[in-house]
Amino acid sequence: MRLLLAANWKMHLYPQEAQRLTLQLKAEWLNSSLCQLPTVLFPPLLYLREVLQLVEGSSLQVGAQNGYPGEFGAFTGEVSTAQIAACGAQWLLVGHSERRLYFQETSDFLQQKIQAAQQRGLSVIYCVGETLEERKQGKTLLVLKRQIEEVMQGIPILWEKLALAYEPVWAIGTGINATPAQAQEAHSYLRTILQDLGAPVEKIPILYGGSLKPENAPDIFAQPDVDGGLVGGASLKAESFISIAQALHSKTLPE
Ligand code: PEP
Repeated sequence: MRLLLAANWKMHLYPQEAQRLTLQLKAEWLNSSLCQLPTVLFPPLLYLREVLQLVEGSSLQVGAQNGYPGEFGAFTGEVSTAQIAACGAQWLLVGHSERRLYFQETSDFLQQKIQAAQQRGLSVIYCVGETLEERKQGKTLLVLKRQIEEVMQGIPILWEKLALAYEPVWAIGTGINATPAQAQEAHSYLRTILQDLGAPVEKIPILYGGSLKPENAPDIFAQPDVDGGLVGGASLKAESFISIAQALHSKTLPE
């Protein structure tokens, strides 16, 4: 079983809204078969501990959208992967295009983050994806290969603590999703790259992210190499996130 669903709340929601959304999701995950669907919430870091406390007793897991490699240090404004793990979080999001673009995070830094996170016991969702320009130039697969190899080649990766997210940059927050065929092509290619690195590919979830909605989720999840979703905008409302979760969960149910 390698399905995985993740909610990236980004820099959204006031404290009471985050609390309410967490409790709505907890109620659904407690009282339905969604409890069998591995699901991670990525709240703003400030709400991490409260969300962790609120989901207690349910199968929902919690992760941080960002974390600095290392333990302690004079890095004003940062929170370390060690501190995040010590608070009880289970996941770290690494390589999101917004962090690559707005915060100039390089492959070298992303590699440090992955290693630091895994050494502290955190699992990682590593995001990759091409820009519109790169797609138009026919460079999508080249970009994906580079983003994986620059970060994962030559270092010990704990594969059991890794998921990938294919997130075409042009699809994030734009309302334009990749077609199911585009997603399948990228996902199956990512699997071959992982295989070449010696990863147990059949066990590594590869999520699709980019304007996932209840309307497009079933067709995208129907692709054989799409193992889940990383959901931004549609994860901010319980109803839409639940409906996406149901679409993914039905992948496991007999036809
Ligand atoms: C994301 O935050 O990773 C994302 C895919 O956002 P959205 O679903 O809003 O496109």
